[in-house]
Amino acid sequence: MRYAILSDIHSNLEALTSVLSKIDTLRVDEVISLGDIVGYNADPNECIEIIRKRGIRAIMGNHDSRAAGLEEPADFNPVAAEMVYWTRKQLTKENIEFLKGLPGKLAFEGRFLAFHGWMDSTDGYILSASDAAYNFSLMGTSTLAFFGHTHVRLAYLEKDGVIEADTASRLKIRKGLRYLVNPGAVGQPRDGDPRSSFLVYDDKKGEITFFRVGYDMERTREKIIGAGLPQTLAERLRLGM
Ligand code: ZN
Repeated sequence: MRYAILSDIHSNLEALTSVLSKIDTLRVDEVISLGDIVGYNADPNECIEIIRKRGIRAIMGNHDSRAAGLEEPADFNPVAAEMVYWTRKQLTKENIEFLKGLPGKLAFEGRFLAFHGWMDSTDGYILSASDAAYNFSLMGTSTLAFFGHTHVRLAYLEKDGVIEADTASRLKIRKGLRYLVNPGAVGQPRDGDPRSSFLVYDDKKGEITFFRVGYDMERTREKIIGAGLPQTLAERLRLGM
């Protein structure tokens, strides 16, 4: 099987459309979303409807659960919280129900795990080797898991308790190692490269390939500004931060 794995779409319709057009050229069998379909940008319903229409298997993100009203954005920064309240007002009933029904994590046919932040917490960030060690400790016999939430493309490799971070654009899965892999963000990358990020995992070849694609960012920025949303959200797209 070939899986396209993406994360953190964050209501960025132009980015999602561009990523899916690229994915359509890559002969994948299934597309998986690691959470945060909504938040930060101006097209929440449109993005959810694409996910639903394509039957993309998706996981609950911390913004999804707040926008759906399952939690309050009490610990969010003011701009992120403002976008939660704005998104709630935009969402259709069906799309709220869809977000509410998303699972916290998924196991894919015994091949790999997928979750948003930490294995046991949608809000936890894997930002260091010790965060990775904690999540490896929760993986049981699984040797591969995909996560999102940090908006930074990165892989953690573990062998005999030693953890290394790997930033290569291609990763060969080797026996005896365990992997925690983040595809980066579709809708709001934060690694200084403003292009959307995602990956393809080919489980037969045992290979992960990362991709970056540009999109019509000016249109996304115009929608943010046109809706009277915080200007900083439009700015950070250009900076990739
Ligand atoms: Zn996010």
